[in-house]
Amino acid sequence: MTPLPSPTALIDRFGRKVDYLRISITDRCDFRCVYCMAEDMTFLPRSQILTLEEIETLAEAFVELGVKKIRVTGGEPLVRKGALNLLTNIGRIEGLKELVITTNGSQLVNMASQLKDSGVKRINISLDTLDADKFKAITRTGDLHQVLSGIQAVKAAGFEHTKINAVILKDRNHLEVNDLVQYAVDNEIDISFIEEMPLGIVGQHDRSEAYYSSALIQADLSQKFSLVPSVEKTGGPSNYFKVSGTQTRVGFISPHSDNFCSTCNRVRLTVEGRLLLCLGNEHSVDLKEVLRAYPGDKDKLKQAIIDAMLIKPEKHEFNIHEQPVILRYMNMTGG
Ligand code: SAM
Ligand code: SF4
Repeated sequence: MTPLPSPTALIDRFGRKVDYLRISITDRCDFRCVYCMAEDMTFLPRSQILTLEEIETLAEAFVELGVKKIRVTGGEPLVRKGALNLLTNIGRIEGLKELVITTNGSQLVNMASQLKDSGVKRINISLDTLDADKFKAITRTGDLHQVLSGIQAVKAAGFEHTKINAVILKDRNHLEVNDLVQYAVDNEIDISFIEEMPLGIVGQHDRSEAYYSSALIQADLSQKFSLVPSVEKTGGPSNYFKVSGTQTRVGFISPHSDNFCSTCNRVRLTVEGRLLLCLGNEHSVDLKEVLRAYPGDKDKLKQAIIDAMLIKPEKHEFNIHEQPVILRYMNMTGG
């Protein structure tokens, strides 16, 4: 007989409790950011991706197993047809404490108030520069003003603790870190700086040469701002500082310079239904196969999720100075 899954079952071999799931609901995107994708990406055919109903079933199973926070991401989550409905349904799952999303901001002018109604609690928006030409160069297809208007729409819709995510690359946008923090302060939002991770072959730049560490960013910021270390965590990998005299927090996500694996509480579900146990390793379990082989059998699904915890690796093995060993791109991974 299958053992009944217990609600506190998601604990890995290293004693880490997994209570945070990131779901990539599409690999597609209207941008082609240079650190995330190759210019000529091909996307998955529909038959290979989870249906919206399957995503919902999986989300329910995870929450029944103790997951408290779900981040919906992609690709660009808001370009998937039916995304709002899906978010509303996930937001209603009993036991889920926090539904949040990460978006490139391109759809927010039209969708911010509907997102508020759907039960999404917080929004992270990617913004690497305030210079329209550089924005175009980094995203290849994006329009800065659309995203800035999107951020205003999010404020107007009443969202709190909105956060900007900025990936900093040397000689592309590293001179803009002070302007980005000033923008966050002016708009009373938070900001996290992310060190680029070597996922997939992106082609346009050498990741080793473009590496700009969190320590360098912090040194740049200290010329203009006073950053006070904060013990606050949001359940993610950021280390936070408060900008003195303001409401703004500045976070650093530093996979290379400050390994955050010992407190890892997350797993990721790709749009193909692969449960990734670690961002920087290929250990995974095919949950779509379980879903489609045993339709309606939630216990089978939950047992597969519990068993997957046994292969969660201790830490990622990123090395920015070598060719990526992870050929999966970030849009497939669900950042
Ligand atoms: N499209 C949405 C967006 O851009 O916010 C959600 C998906 S995107 C993959 C999620 C986050 O991953 C973004 O903040 C993006 O900047 C970041 N990202 C993408 N590729 C990355 C890489 N190679 N290293 C570090 N962060 C990356
Ligand atoms: Fe699209 Fe986000 Fe990747 Fe940029 S980072 S290409 S917006 S998925």
